[in-house]
Amino acid sequence: MFKALVLEQEDKKTLATIRQVATSELPEGDVLIDVDYSSLNYKDGLAITGKGRIVRQFPMVPGVDLTGTVAESSDDRYHVGDKVVLTGWGVGEGHWGGMAEKARLKADWLVPLPTNLDGKQAMMVGTAGLTAMLCVQAIVDAGVTPDAGEIIVTGASGGVGSVAVTLLAQLGYKVAAVTGRAETNGPLLKQLGATTIIDRSVFEEPARPLDKQLWAGAIDTVGSKVLAKVLSQINYNGAVAICGLAGGFDLPTTVMPFILRNVRLQGIDSVMCPFEKRQQAWQRLTELLPASYFEQACREVSLEQVAECAEAITNGQITGRVVIKL
Ligand code: NDP
Repeated sequence: MFKALVLEQEDKKTLATIRQVATSELPEGDVLIDVDYSSLNYKDGLAITGKGRIVRQFPMVPGVDLTGTVAESSDDRYHVGDKVVLTGWGVGEGHWGGMAEKARLKADWLVPLPTNLDGKQAMMVGTAGLTAMLCVQAIVDAGVTPDAGEIIVTGASGGVGSVAVTLLAQLGYKVAAVTGRAETNGPLLKQLGATTIIDRSVFEEPARPLDKQLWAGAIDTVGSKVLAKVLSQINYNGAVAICGLAGGFDLPTTVMPFILRNVRLQGIDSVMCPFEKRQQAWQRLTELLPASYFEQACREVSLEQVAECAEAITNGQITGRVVIKL
């Protein structure tokens, strides 16, 4: 038996309880893992509170991320004692996830834990960090270089945003951070490497089709009118990587930035990201994230504190990353 956070549904409401579960109840998979850490993402918050339709069947153990040690394996790639990391692949949505002391998963979904990260650090990165890395890579791949101008990051104090700010600064980009919490989080964002802090309210005003050109590129985690405004201000030949919808899934924009300024819009998905790209991104993260990131922008909680943190993340009240110790 082991401890797990289990989501069930009663009268269309999601109930989250901590209970003992038998290993035999775990879903099918070729690798059994003793979980060391999970993390809390926005998506986990939606699943645990029931505010978003994330969970595809109940009962469900949430947790789209986990790190741990292989306890049993029927796959040649993984052996007992190996340290692994898992993000995405619908784990915590359609397959029991990381907020439990054990997980059984498909070997195809796993990545060997990068050598210079420990399990806790890997969860401080987690889905949010991997997504931030993929967004930054998209800006680099689009040919936007640090001398082209500032890169704007929205939802900057969140999990994805805070890692994106850090990575861009490490690569030598000037970073403008858009946040709804400029007063409280401005100093942290500056420590992470932001050169300019902008209050989100500026970006919530209706966007004109084309505004003054201000940014060489953008990483957007928010969507909706904030993204529309960002798009209207991107420089000629700029690139925008978008991954999130914290402010809404609509996009009230026009074709103008794309057809008159040659702006490139790149969607980013980390969930189904293929193994090679995933492994490269983890490698790059270990090279780029400074030790200070792990001290500044992360908080560790127990399974018992998850429900409260889940509510907070859906209300935009969490700064940086939350990791869960199993
Ligand atoms: P967080 O909750 O940690 O961060 C989101 C941030 O967005 C908040 O911290 C806040 O930043 C800002 N925000 C919150 N509410 C609003 C609002 N109503 N309007 C504008 N801004 C708001 O979430 P994550 O960083 O984990 O995820 C960010 C987004 O990216 C989510 O939508 C998530 O679903 C998505 N995502 C997508 C992935 C993919 O593979 N495509 C993977 C991971 C995440 P501040 O206070 O600084 O304004």
